[in-house]
Amino acid sequence: MITINKKDYKIIDVHTHLPWQDEYKTIKEKEQCLIDELKKNKIDSAVLIADSLSESCIGNNQECFDVVKRNANLKMVYGFTPLERFDEQLTELHEMLEKKEVIGVKLYPGHEDFCMNDSRLDKVFKLCIKFDVPVVIHTEWNWDYYPQYSHPFFISQIAEKYKDLRIVCAHIWIPRSIESIKQTIKHDNIFYDMSSFAFDDEYKKLYPKATFITYEKAIEILEEIINKNPDKIMFGSDFGTLKIDAHIEIVSRLNISELNLSKLLFKNAQKIYRI
Ligand SMILES: [Zn+2]
Repeated sequence: MITINKKDYKIIDVHTHLPWQDEYKTIKEKEQCLIDELKKNKIDSAVLIADSLSESCIGNNQECFDVVKRNANLKMVYGFTPLERFDEQLTELHEMLEKKEVIGVKLYPGHEDFCMNDSRLDKVFKLCIKFDVPVVIHTEWNWDYYPQYSHPFFISQIAEKYKDLRIVCAHIWIPRSIESIKQTIKHDNIFYDMSSFAFDDEYKKLYPKATFITYEKAIEILEEIINKNPDKIMFGSDFGTLKIDAHIEIVSRLNISELNLSKLLFKNAQKIYRI
């Protein structure tokens, strides 16, 4: 058990969204909720990940960009889909990268019907390399019917083909994190964020069919990953759906060194996202 003394550590949450719940009616209300939550949990800065869809309860790219512009402690990751408005998105993304308005690109395979070996994605990877930003990929195994579009095999293939591309695997294929790490860890350009490792009771009630891990299991997995690969993994919560305080609780219970804690909480994020 470690205590997180805020004098010694910054905290960067690399995986947040605007909340989708009905009680937040407008983007302004969603923004306020996120900002209040960051403040309550003493988060120094956060990465806000936009949805790739033009209509979204977690905010599309333009809506998220408006939020980020108003808050100096937020950076934005662009949500991209290869399934619609391809050239339009590519142009918009290019412009935003040029102006340094976004610090990464998020893909949602599995949530959306495309696989990570889809050759349309090559253009996105090349843009990420050109502007030196990571691509963030949604990775999980949680649902029985869930297509394994971001299987570690495909991610390894991309890492091999694009050695200058930094790849962030969001959620580390939870709950099959250890076996997936084994398949991907040898690539210097693959990194991970621990968002969605803390499934609180509220979430479990909402999604009773998902395969959850307990806090104890999450701690066991994270300790194993961090102690062996301290430069690879970043703190994230998936706020909007899950809770920041629950993720901090898990981190505070980890048996890791102070140096590795500082890497987890902010140093790795600074390097990987160049922030
Ligand atoms: Zn997310």
